Amino acid sequence: METATRTQVAIIGGGPAGLLLSHILHRNGIDSIVLERQSRTHVLARIRAGVLEAGTVTLLHEVGLGARMEREGHPHDGSAIAWEGRPRLFIDAKKLTGKAMMAYGQTAITEVTRLADRSSTKRTTSVCTSSHRVDRM
Ligand SMILES: Cc1cc2nc3c(=O)[nH]c(=O)nc-3n(C[C@H](O)[C@H](O)[C@H](O)COP(=O)(O)OP(=O)(O)OC[C@H]3O[C@@H](n4cnc5c(N)ncnc54)[C@H](O)[C@@H]3O)c2cc1C
Repeated sequence: METATRTQVAIIGGGPAGLLLSHILHRNGIDSIVLERQSRTHVLARIRAGVLEAGTVTLLHEVGLGARMEREGHPHDGSAIAWEGRPRLFIDAKKLTGKAMMAYGQTAITEVTRLADRSSTKRTTSVCTSSHRVDRM
């Protein structure tokens, strides 16, 4: 059955960028709908990014999505280069830049933005469309 929907903004793609944009628009009183071509199961099971830059960590806090990241994420101060038994070289990004990254899965960001959308009082909807099936996130 077809349903007509009116919205102010249509966002193509329910990855972290699309869902976060939808969340930020909602916080500013702007309705949106996120259209995703993959199934909800696929999107939520897709493992990709694991380390967040400092700017992303700050943004998630600013838009009210930082609590789970603080609980489950692991601060990531830098990276080590190890090669053929030579002494390990640690690049201390926190010391050099004053900012720390965060080890925190992209799937968790997808989940918190999806749940934030769901708890909205105003309409902010995510829809997965795959094989002509419509699946509300
Ligand atoms: C293996 C791997 C490891 C990674 N590790 C890191 C990491 O450690 N740190 C880091 O910062 N980044 C990492 N990345 C990159 C990170 O995953 C991406 O930058 C991030 O997913 C981009 O988010 P996005 O929402 O812009 O795009 P995507 O996550 O790609 O989401 C786009 C969505 O749009 C949907 N879509 C596309 N076209 C259409 C259409 N026409 N109609 C409807 N839906 C559509 C897609 O199905 C998809 O769900 C990694 C990526 C990969 C592949």
